[in-house]
Amino acid sequence: VEIGVLDHGYVRLLEHIGSDLSVINCARMSHGRESEELGPSDVRLIKFLAENGHTSPFRHQFISFRVKAPLFVARQWWRHSVGSAHLESGNSWNELSRRYSDVGIESGEFYYDIERVDLEAQELIRGSMLCSLSVYLSLVEKGVPKEIARLVLPAYALYTEWVWTANLQAVCHFVEQRLADGAQHEIKEYAKVVLEIVKQLFPVSVSYLVKGGQSAD
Ligand SMILES: Cc1cc2nc3c(=O)[nH]c(=O)nc-3n(C[C@H](O)[C@H](O)[C@H](O)COP(=O)(O)OP(=O)(O)OC[C@H]3O[C@@H](n4cnc5c(N)ncnc54)[C@H](O)[C@@H]3O)c2cc1C
Repeated sequence: VEIGVLDHGYVRLLEHIGSDLSVINCARMSHGRESEELGPSDVRLIKFLAENGHTSPFRHQFISFRVKAPLFVARQWWRHSVGSAHLESGNSWNELSRRYSDVGIESGEFYYDIERVDLEAQELIRGSMLCSLSVYLSLVEKGVPKEIARLVLPAYALYTEWVWTANLQAVCHFVEQRLADGAQHEIKEYAKVVLEIVKQLFPVSVSYLVKGGQSAD
């Protein structure tokens, strides 16, 4: 599954471990019991666990995503550190560093499709980025090393890629925080996509761990 976000970004599901049933079987371990399929009492137990903060059974399920996002979104995302591993891909680190690679630069792979500011502001933003790009390309052409030339690029707007592996509780915590009213529009767009993906994988758990998870279709 890969879902596009913003102008050049995406969230791609790489793999996952576990299911709603594995949540239940972690929880029922304490009573020496195991379910073979999810029944109504299991759903009630997941609801009870989520609503009462008994969250350890939700930490045995893991989801790996590959994410491509502007650096300012990535920086907000990387603050979610508990139960999460953020591994920048080798290629994107090079791309981000601009020391060894300028993949995406000449095609202008910056985030500037910002419709929530007026047209004049959009033009100013775009103009500034294209000006930086032009200076960068001139510097490289003059033989300035890319590791120096990159200093003029609009770093926050550059796209980067990384692999995010997190347990189910951590993913739902991210979604909760980044779908809330105060979160920035751009990371909200990513959180919506993450929610859409995890709801397919863990429908019952997500419906109780994320407020509005049941109705967020
Ligand atoms: C709308 C919004 C605005 C923000 N604005 C800013 C800002 O202006 N500046 C800024 O720097 N950051 C800002 N942040 C980032 C925010 O402060 C958090 O760093 C980020 O949201 C990650 O959340 P977290 O700390 O809960 O995640 P994690 O660090 O992944 O922690 C997850 C949970 O684990 C528990 N936990 C973590 N560490 C411990 C511990 N040592 N002991 C016990 N329990 C622990 C807590 O319950 C925590 O909620 C903002 C976040 C949001 C959503």
